[in-house]
Amino acid sequence: MATTDRQATTLALAHALSAAERGLAVIPLSRTKLPALRSPHRDDPDPVRPPCHGECGRFGHGVYDASPDPARIRAMFAAAPRATGYGIACGLPPHHLIGIDLDTKNGTDSSAALRELALRHLFTIPATVVVLTPSGGRHLWLSGPPDVVVPNSAGRLAPGIDIRGAGGYLVGPGSRTEHGTYTAAPGTAHLAPAACPPALLRLLLPPPRAHHPTPASAGGHGQGLVQFVLAAHEGQRNTRLFWAACRAYEDGIGPALADALVEAALDTGLSEREARATIASAARMTGHRP
Ligand SMILES: [Zn+2]
Repeated sequence: MATTDRQATTLALAHALSAAERGLAVIPLSRTKLPALRSPHRDDPDPVRPPCHGECGRFGHGVYDASPDPARIRAMFAAAPRATGYGIACGLPPHHLIGIDLDTKNGTDSSAALRELALRHLFTIPATVVVLTPSGGRHLWLSGPPDVVVPNSAGRLAPGIDIRGAGGYLVGPGSRTEHGTYTAAPGTAHLAPAACPPALLRLLLPPPRAHHPTPASAGGHGQGLVQFVLAAHEGQRNTRLFWAACRAYEDGIGPALADALVEAALDTGLSEREARATIASAARMTGHRP
């Protein structure tokens, strides 16, 4: 048994290192798909404030430990002799990975739900890496733009569709868990994560506030988008600005509204350079010239 465990760990390490060669940041996982390294702060009398995300220099901070550096990956696996798999951190450069987790439990046909979303919102799922899960589910790997934070969500798009974004991780192909092994779907292992279609990306971003501005006039609508940016908290400023700018370009008021959006973004603490870069990226993604 011990030998089997060691072989499983060695195999998981090999798979993790080849993921790292593709620029992906990884952590060792246990058979339960949870991070294999325990928190060094688990016995602290008081929770560390603010919570430690690895500043202490030790391992055991979950996805915050993730790294594409082979030496660090080897060190993590050496400290996790019971690891049988690895997790791939989402949302990090260079791929800014977004995982579309299509579940099959409770009889939901999440693949059909995704096809339906694609028809309704006019996007196609590009050829990309697909990982088959032991329970018959699928993970689609997509790549997001660098200036957008995609949050994790469960069942928000449709029942059975979970999104792994910033702060989340995907179980990597080759991982062994108590339910079986994760494998790359035939013919997809060599692919790079394909760019997330803009129409799908917008579905993944936080919706605007429940109170929608009246779209009666472009002016009123534009003002609503500006308010949406102004109401951004730190951590969602770029995401909100990107979302608002996409809407503006789609609605044909992008160029007219760009300066007002920049003003609003400056108000929330973004730099003008950041704001203009985000708006330019929204213009490109909606098929316009910045
Ligand atoms: Zn720490």
